[in-house]
Formats: sequence, structure tokens, C-alpha cells
Amino acid sequence: MITAEQKPIQEITKYIEPCGKILLVGCNECVTVCAAGGRKEVGLLASALHLNSLKQGKTLEIKEITLERQCDPEYVEELAPYIDGADAVLSMACGCGVQTVAARYKTTPVFPAVNTKFMGASESQGIWAERCQGCGDCMLGITGGICPVARCSKSLLNGPCGGTSNGQCEISPDVDCAWRLIWERLVALGIQDRYEELNAAKDWRPAGGGGPRKIIREDLV
Ligand code: SF4
Ligand code: SF4
Repeated sequence: MITAEQKPIQEITKYIEPCGKILLVGCNECVTVCAAGGRKEVGLLASALHLNSLKQGKTLEIKEITLERQCDPEYVEELAPYIDGADAVLSMACGCGVQTVAARYKTTPVFPAVNTKFMGASESQGIWAERCQGCGDCMLGITGGICPVARCSKSLLNGPCGGTSNGQCEISPDVDCAWRLIWERLVALGIQDRYEELNAAKDWRPAGGGGPRKIIREDLV
């Protein structure tokens, strides 16, 4: 999923400083799972913003709404009845959601209330870690299911580098060396011979090096 974290309240309040009426919009998908911008977080942020405006002797009207998916024009349409009454939209979705709302409502400012982080997986309660960089040409099939692009600090396609120490990455003893993980996994699968085969240089165009990417499914258009 796409992970995100709420921005500092000072940054959010600065965005909406000139506004009297805010449409605060959450998303029911990834940001709900990582507790950054779902219905609950919309309620909490609304309370914090109310409190903040009271302290400053101002009144702030906030309409709270959480869409099923903010990156989907179909659901973004649900904001139409409220948009004219708002000085700005404060979006608690990832950057894709913010941009989908801004593309639909061109004359209303749309501000992000979260920082979009990475594509990650849950490691344990409250901990998410990066697992994929969307390189567009997945090599998990030859690396035992461990991604060297996202999990090796240098995105090495063959490793490890000389900096690995006791199985940990040179950037920090808290970071597992991805290539140590790949080795262990290949051993566990009984295919450690695979480690001897050099992986060819990667074509990074599908990873975004060829400009903004798009998927067109003719059968669905
Ligand atoms: S190889 Fe590419 S697509 Fe596969 S997990 Fe890694 S970054 Fe994602
Ligand atoms: S120590 Fe391992 S994870 Fe860190 S940069 Fe080198 S090969 Fe990559």
C-alpha cells in the first residue's frame, strides 16, 4: 500500500490561514490502513484545527468527509455539493488523491495534510517498511521475493557491496542488508546457485526514467 504520515499541524494551519471554511477530505484506502488520513484521522485533525482557531480568536468551519478512494474521479465527484461552500480543500489522501481532487475542482485550492512516503508493508502493529519502488519490471522472481531495488540502500542489482557488515547494511546496523536477505531466502528455497548468476543492467525507463508512466488497458477503456 501507499504509506503516509500527517504533516506537522503548524504547516497545515499555515496553508489554511486565510480560510474560514474548509472541506477536510479523508480516504478509506491506504491512508486509513496506515492511520494517516482515514475517517478517524479526519475527525482528530478537525478537532485540532478547531482548537487552534479558537486559540487565535478565529472561527473555522470544517466540513468532514471521507471518500471511498480519493484517487478515483468517480468518488471525488461526491465533493461537488460541498465544494462551492469551501475556501479550500484539505486532503488527507496520498499525493494521487490530492491531485485527483485538484484536477476536478480547478478553482478551489487543494492542500495536502499528509506527506506521502512509500509503497510499503506492515511489519508489526504501527510499523510500516518500504518494499517496492514501482520499478515497472519486477525482479522478485529471480531474487527470492526480496526486492533489491527498494530494500538495498544502493539499489544494487548484484550484491552485496563491500559495506555490508554482519549481515547489516552499512548505512545503519538497524537496516538488514537486502543481499544478505536474498542469499538466506535462496538458501531456504534450495536455489542458492542462482546467486552466482549476474543480473543484467536494468532498463530504468519503466521505472519512470522515460517520463510519467501510464497504464492503458484497452479492454477496460
Ligand atoms: S523489483 Fe521493482 S516492481 Fe518488484 S518489488 Fe522491487 S521495485 Fe517493486
Ligand atoms: S550493505 Fe547490503 S543493503 Fe546496504 S548498500 Fe550494500 S548491498 Fe545494499
